[in-house]
Amino acid sequence: MGAREEALGRVGGRVVVCTRCPRLVAWRREVAQEPPPRFAGERYWARPVPGFGDPAARVYVLGLATAAHGGNRTGRALTGNSTADWLTAALHRAGLANQATSVARDDGLRLTGAWTASAVRCPPPGNRPTPQERDHCLPYLTEELDALADVAVLVTLGAFAWDAASRQAGLRPRPAFGHGAEAVRPDGRVQLGCYHPSRQNTATGLLTEPMLDAVFRRAVELAGRP
Ligand code: SF4
Repeated sequence: MGAREEALGRVGGRVVVCTRCPRLVAWRREVAQEPPPRFAGERYWARPVPGFGDPAARVYVLGLATAAHGGNRTGRALTGNSTADWLTAALHRAGLANQATSVARDDGLRLTGAWTASAVRCPPPGNRPTPQERDHCLPYLTEELDALADVAVLVTLGAFAWDAASRQAGLRPRPAFGHGAEAVRPDGRVQLGCYHPSRQNTATGLLTEPMLDAVFRRAVELAGRP
């Protein structure tokens, strides 16, 4: 194992035992104890979810927060819900994933040139983390980015992730979020705005597959992959 993998493993090890946010510690267990009927009987992860992907990633995909019945159930970032279906299919079309689905930690998914994580690594009630919870979790983003030395582009899913990435980078004035928005960070990386592929956005047509593909095409272009 190389130094980069070791550094990422150390971050992940700290993430999975983190208890900095009491409200979220309680919520991640509560939702696991009362799953919806479609997940009845499943053993939930019910811990914070570390980042997942390729240590040589050039594209970092940042989501809002761990989903109560997605990552909090499966134990892998952006896995096991409708958002994961849309995102993984797009990563596959962009040549960044070996398969188009992400349903469980043992499903064989491998990312090449990409890393996925959420700005808040525990599930928040109503998908709404507080500013304090966001700030508690941002150091893990910093630590992962320090380890992922090849990352050139951050694709931020939704305004919350865009804002979290802007704060983490110290971008001032704060750039405005938009689908396809671009901002150059003080660390030289580019962050790209993308509407969140939540069921709400995809079912209403606010975000379509061509729109998602356009963002990842741009990300790959900026990241300089062949
Ligand atoms: S949201 Fe982040 S900082 Fe808060 S308990 Fe979970 S892992 Fe820790």
